[in-house]
Amino acid sequence: MKIFCPNAIVTRVQEIPLKDLQYLGIRGLLIDLDNTLIRWDRTEIDEDVKRWLKQAHDMGFSICFVSNGLKERVRRFSTILGYPAVGRAVKPRRGPFRHALKLLQLSPSEAAVVGDQLFTDVLGGNRMGMYTILINPLSDKELRSTRLVRRLERRMLLRLARQGLVNAGHVESRMKAGNRR
Ligand SMILES: [Mg+2]
Repeated sequence: MKIFCPNAIVTRVQEIPLKDLQYLGIRGLLIDLDNTLIRWDRTEIDEDVKRWLKQAHDMGFSICFVSNGLKERVRRFSTILGYPAVGRAVKPRRGPFRHALKLLQLSPSEAAVVGDQLFTDVLGGNRMGMYTILINPLSDKELRSTRLVRRLERRMLLRLARQGLVNAGHVESRMKAGNRR
């Protein structure tokens, strides 16, 4: 069960307590793209997300995108935003995370994984022994297969909350946000 357990659940990337991460010795962020930084069906990035990335970078965090998305789409965002990326990542496999850590020259304990999916981002990060942060998906527009996974994800989060492994209030607010969309 613990392998599915994020270290933190926040509503959006802007809520990530960057100072606390630095206190934990974390110096790099491996960030998912679709529905974490960019709405799944969009091609442009919100200004406040760009500002947050710059803020994290200015605080000294190294940044790498790790996305299961198509290589071309991932490369495009990597170029626009100016951070390295690993595309077609097949998370939760460990290879893409290892690749990203190598690009940033960090060890697993020095990096946090940020993403909107429990069974790819969080599971993959946990398998690597990294700090994991689950955020609410930016949009409910997703692949049909992802929508199916969301139902399993909800069940798992509720189970984790019942066992006291994650903050029940945070899980509840994630469910509410999902229902609103
Ligand atoms: Mg995602």
